[in-house]
Amino acid sequence: IKKIGVLTSGGDSPGMNAAIRSVVRTCAFHNIECIGIYRGYQGMIEGDFKEMGPRSVNNIVNKGGTILKSARSVEFRTAEGRKKAYEKLTQAGIDAFVVIGGDGSFTGAEIFNKEYKFPVMGIPGTIDNDIYGTTHTLGYDTALNTVVEVIDKIRDTASSHNRLFFVEVMGRDAGHIALNAGIGAGAEEILIPEEDLGLERLLESLRKSKASGKSSSIVVVSEGDKIGKSVFELKDYVEEHMPEYDVRVSVLGHMQRGGSPSCFDRVLASRLGVKAVESILEGKSNYMVGIINDKIALTPLEQAIKGETEIDLELLRVSDIMTT
Ligand code: ATP
Repeated sequence: IKKIGVLTSGGDSPGMNAAIRSVVRTCAFHNIECIGIYRGYQGMIEGDFKEMGPRSVNNIVNKGGTILKSARSVEFRTAEGRKKAYEKLTQAGIDAFVVIGGDGSFTGAEIFNKEYKFPVMGIPGTIDNDIYGTTHTLGYDTALNTVVEVIDKIRDTASSHNRLFFVEVMGRDAGHIALNAGIGAGAEEILIPEEDLGLERLLESLRKSKASGKSSSIVVVSEGDKIGKSVFELKDYVEEHMPEYDVRVSVLGHMQRGGSPSCFDRVLASRLGVKAVESILEGKSNYMVGIINDKIALTPLEQAIKGETEIDLELLRVSDIMTT
């Protein structure tokens, strides 16, 4: 192996730049050339490559987003598209790549590896923390801190007006962000996809909260929660059943994906990048590099894609106790 490519693919997340930096510098450390592949698999198909030396990644460890840009490529889903990508990679002398992204990006890498026996490594980058084989994905910790900071601010205005706020957070089908940021910010109730608490229980909890003398309430709702109502419908429902509440809604949206990565994400990105490159140099391929019990661990891409992630439901109980 003489030349390793690196790309970011799918949705961006804070810490991707720190991971790019780590891959580039680990290559330099081992006297391997590193090529930045722009715009994910679409840039791979188009040969949008740039050589990257250790100085080309100065001052990005602290930056959100990805300097390599990200994209979703429909063409890469086709055999012809992947053939073009293979030709571009071989023309450029690239003999392995590291892809930073989510399970879609890993699926693309896995298929490509099967078709062309091309060495690939994955680094999990998504704020949702929904990837099997790692307890933390890149960007998740930063997103948690962002959400907690914002809910703290919402709490200030909520308590000044005795209001109830529904705050919708990201996470797709996983409730990690909602559950952890909810506990961190002292939410009165947390609605996650993994557990349907039901509307009756929500009203019950709000009544209890009111009766206990709380001046404001915050309900954190994961975007994929199974209660079957949007945050706006929840607002209407609660106002109908509890007219004493003045309800507001805040959908946090894409701000959760931005911002400077937390120290945790920077360190994680550095560790994952080193392991990804060194694993390729040891002849390994088709793995995702993750972290389990604070140890860097390799999981076959196939497992990382198919494996079900779990959420610690004990946290719901902790949240309940905290809102006593
Ligand atoms: P996010 O967490 O934001 O969804 P992701 O990596 O899962 O990140 P996707 O859009 O699902 O994002 O996948 C990124 C890219 O990976 C796709 O645009 C496509 O180019 C490639 N890809 C996904 N699935 C496949 C597949 N089945 N075959 C080939 N390529 C794929």
